[in-house]
Order: sequence, then C-alpha cells, then structure tokens
Amino acid sequence: MIHFVGAGPGAPDLITVRGARLLKEADVIIYAGSLVNPELLEFRKPTCTVFDSASMTLEETVQVMRDAQERGLACVRLHTGDPSLYGAIAEQMTALDAVGIDYDVVPGVSSLFGAAAALKTEYTLPGVSQSLIVTRAAGRTPVPDRERLSFLAAHGCTMALFLSTGLLAKAQTELLAGGYAPQTPAAIVYRATWPDEAVYRCTVATLADCAKTHGITKTALVIVGDALDGHGERSKLYDPEFSHGYRAAHGAVNQQRTQSVSVVAFTARGLSLARQLAEGLAGQGHVVDLSAPMRLATNGVSPFGNLSDWARDAFSRSDALIFVSACGIAVRTIAPYATDKFRDPAVICIDETARFVTPLLSGHVGGANALARTIAGLCGAQPVITTATDVNGVFAVDEWAARQGLALLDRVEARHVATALLEGKTVGLTSTIPLEGPLPQGLACGEEADSCEVGISISLDAALRPFAATLRLVPRVATVGIGCKRGTAVDELEAALEVALSEAHLAREAVRELVTIDVKQDELGILELGKRLGVPVRFQSAEQLAAVPGSFSSSAFVKETVGVDNVCERAACATGGTLVLGRRRFPGITVAIALHETRLSFVGWSRDKEAQCG
Ligand code: SAH
Repeated sequence: MIHFVGAGPGAPDLITVRGARLLKEADVIIYAGSLVNPELLEFRKPTCTVFDSASMTLEETVQVMRDAQERGLACVRLHTGDPSLYGAIAEQMTALDAVGIDYDVVPGVSSLFGAAAALKTEYTLPGVSQSLIVTRAAGRTPVPDRERLSFLAAHGCTMALFLSTGLLAKAQTELLAGGYAPQTPAAIVYRATWPDEAVYRCTVATLADCAKTHGITKTALVIVGDALDGHGERSKLYDPEFSHGYRAAHGAVNQQRTQSVSVVAFTARGLSLARQLAEGLAGQGHVVDLSAPMRLATNGVSPFGNLSDWARDAFSRSDALIFVSACGIAVRTIAPYATDKFRDPAVICIDETARFVTPLLSGHVGGANALARTIAGLCGAQPVITTATDVNGVFAVDEWAARQGLALLDRVEARHVATALLEGKTVGLTSTIPLEGPLPQGLACGEEADSCEVGISISLDAALRPFAATLRLVPRVATVGIGCKRGTAVDELEAALEVALSEAHLAREAVRELVTIDVKQDELGILELGKRLGVPVRFQSAEQLAAVPGSFSSSAFVKETVGVDNVCERAACATGGTLVLGRRRFPGITVAIALHETRLSFVGWSRDKEAQCG
C-alpha cells in the first residue's frame, strides 16, 4: 500500500494528524524536495529511507514504490499542499494501477488556503464573489484553450493562480482583457506559512511590476479579485448607511448606474439571449426595453418599421443599446446617430451564442465597458474591451468622473490626462472636495503635484486652473432657487444666474437643478433656462416651501402674492442643501443658491496609494 500524503503548504504543524502518523510509521518516504518542508522528515523513524523526488523521474519514483511494496514496507509519497492540485499524482496512480499496487490519499492543506490565511481573506465574500477559480497561466505546461485566463477572467470572481509567477506579464494582460478592472485588488503570496512568508498587495494592472520589484520568481500564489478588499474600505460599500447617503447625494457611487437599456435581436436564438440578458439586467435594477425583439417573437414579422427609426428613437431615449447581432449590423445602424462620446448612449454588441460582448460606443462616460462586463457576468461571454486606458490598466478619468457625477469641463485636457497616464507620466490632482479611497496609480497630490504640467482640478470654482493643462471636474451640487415676474425672458434669467453663480464662485456646471414655486410651472423663461443648463426644473407648492427648515428672509408682498414669505431661498434649500448665497435681487428676478454635501471616492478604482487630498 502506498500512501499519497499532503504535506501542507510549508509550516510543519500544518500536516494532518493522519499524515503525521503515516510519516512516523513509514519505512520509505519519497518527498518533493523542492517544495515540501524538510522539517517534516523529523517525524520519521531512524530506520526510514528517504528519497527526494526532485531529482527523480516518474519511472524511478514508481520503482522505489514497487520495491517497497515487494518488501512489505510502509511507503509514503509526500506531496506539497494537497496532492490533488498540480501534484502529478494521477500519472503515479496510473503506473501503480498497471502493476497492481494499491494506494490511498491523505488530503493536505493546500497553499491555496495557506495563502488565504496569510491574506486573512475570505475568498467567497458574500456580495462580492461566491466562486473561486483555481488555475495557472499557460507556460511550458499548456492549459486547455477553453480555460484561457481571459475566458476565466470574464467571471470576475476570486481567482488563484498557481505556478504562474514567471508568467505574470502575459497573465496580467489576459486578466485585464478578460474583464477584471485594472484596479481590481491582487496579491502575491510568497511561501505562505513558511518562516519567510511574504505578502505583496497590488492590483491586476500592476501584478507583473509587483513581482519584478520584489524579485518573486517562484513558490508564490497569485490571488486576484474584489474579495481581497473584504476587510478594507470596500466593506463600507456594503454598509447600508454609507451607500445610502452617498447615493442620495450623487446617485453615482456604484460602479454600475441604473440605466435604461434597449435591446434588439433578429433571430430566435438572439431573442432567447436577449430575454436572458433582459432578465439579468432587470434583476440588477436596470430598466430594460425588450419590445423590439418581443414583437419579433409574438408575430414573427420584423419588429421594425425601419431599424434605423428604432435606433434613432433608442438613441434619444436610452442610456444603452444592446444589439444581439453581428457588429456589422450594429455599426451600420447606429452610424448616423453617433456624434459625441460624452453624450452618446452606450452601444454594445453581443453575438447570439454569447461568446463575445463588445462595447462599440461610449465605453467610458456612457458606461459601455462596465455594462459589457456586467453582461459578460450574466451570460459567460468574453468582454472585448478596446479602450486604451483599460487595456493598459491606466486610470480612466472620464469614466471615473462620470461615475462620480462630476461635470467634465475640458475635453482636450481630458485627453492630455489620458495620454500622460498612458505615457507613464505623473498627473497632478487638487481637490477642494474630500476624496476617499486609494489614489489611482499615476496621480499625485500635494507637493508632488506641484511639478506636474498636466493635472486635474476638482472644485466648484471653474476659475481654478492650477496646472499648465488643467482638466476641471465640477461636482453637480448646487440647487438654484429662483423666482421671477411673470413673462421674464430667459436671457435675463440666465444673465442673473451667471452673476449669482460668479458671486458664489460656482461654475455653471455645478448647478444640478432649478427649484421654484409651482405657480411657475408654465413660466417659459424658467423652463427654458433649465434646458439651457441641462438640468431639471422642480416645483414646490407654497406649503412645501413654507415647511422647508431654516431661517430665511421674509417679504410680506411675496407672502401676499404667492402664499409663502420667500420663494428663492426656501426653494434653494428645498432638496436639503445649505444656503451659500442668500436672496440676490435683480430687476424682476430673485436667485438663491444652496449646496449639497458631497464626497468623492476612488474606492474600487485603484489600490496603489492611499489618497490624502482635499
Ligand atoms: N499541491 C500544491 C501545489 C503544487 S504546485 C498545493 O496544494 O499547494 C506548486 C505551486 O504551488 C507553486 O508554484 C506555487 O504557485 C504554489 N505553492 C506551493 N507552496 C506554496 C506556498 N507555501 N506559498 C505560496 N505558493 C505555494
């Protein structure tokens, strides 16, 4: 009888009780000298013969086992970790079967779990990942093509890579191409549970660099996935209070925004995929319009008077269009309507067998890349991401700004920022708004930012341009309360607002809504002003305004006219902000401005440096 015994990951007291007993009883031990801790051999009896398999062929190993068997000796074949993972036990078992020798297996603690212990992590963190992929990068030992890292990466779950430390440049590229966001946390665990154990935390985008910096070439496990964040700030995202306050303030802290999605399909197979996606996306809170393919299903005729009309309509009404079709159909259909990457909806194409999901338009600001990854998660397709920052693992400022609800004022400078980061240059960052989370790689704040040519300024004040090339990002946090005489022209209203904003040092883009009293529901100038600013106009009744808490200036005339003593200040504060500009009078117009509190977050975007700006 041959006993295959798992030795555990390194520390000698991590072998199982059964394994230790068999070692004590063994007459012959064959151990994998390159990985098994030799201290385990101290269990052996003085008469025991020991072989190091590191220098032996399979045939030689099996010969030792056969000899032991013939002489009636107890033989242990000692493998590192658990023998079932990359232990090459199958070939030994086949050889033993061929000569009729019996064997059994004693499990061991895999280095997979030694690494989890070193990381103090839960691989299957609720709400983050409920699966663990155990794999390796293809090197001299091939990996079946269907298990290519880029395919497995599409699941976005926790992943452990054995035997891959020398192959990280390629592995990293595949992991990114497959769908892990560049800033996904990663770790290299060297010699878990050995005295010289070391843990290096990085991101998927910096894996290869990290291994190089620390000179790690072997005996290490690579772990990737958001679960690695389980203990840190990330858990705050799952704290209902945190996410609530934040969502109320911005509606944008989530990696994924609620979107209205229009889906089109052209074949029966495409329709069934469209249905599956619609269900999955609806389950995540998106509003999905499946009417086009459903009409195809119910009456069997083309659902489109004209596909182009459908696309025009969907372009103006939806945040995202999903074509279950060839890319060619999608590209030809949307071509006339695609105009601006800052405004166009996300357009995504997925083949009807759900192998590849390709964001065609608005990958960053429109959220097509993120949505493609979501879709990949729903149906197992591989996301085909082509935006330069993503494929290079570089911080995408436009996408981040969109997710944080920031207005991006300078498109050319946004390009300068992306280019600088892609060229490996440092981009400065100043912010008058509190930032939380780790600063993405390539950004610098404080003194380090002083020498940067290109930089990002996050402020409510558009006059701030601290860098030679400054990308200004403005939080939309201002509520403008406004009142006017009936029939006031929009130009006058706009001029008054500009003055008020400049007195409060606020960029026009900081305005997120106009609020006035409901008797103004048909006040064309105010409605038009909302359109010019691209913000909603909200109406409050006199009772609602009267109930807004706070101390406001009061006018008997206004009270007599509309039933509440002050319109503009109360309206400015009606959605919860704090007054920063009290009633400012212009001829026939009054304006007041309130600001909402805001915080911005890099959580989930990168883990390389701790942010301490602003
Ligand atoms: N059966 C073993 C794996 C053998 S393959 C187990 O279950 O752990 C050898 C690979 O395992 C190494 O290249 C490395 O990736 C990983 N490995 C083994 N011991 C390790 C340890 N103590 N710390 C980190 N990785 C280890």
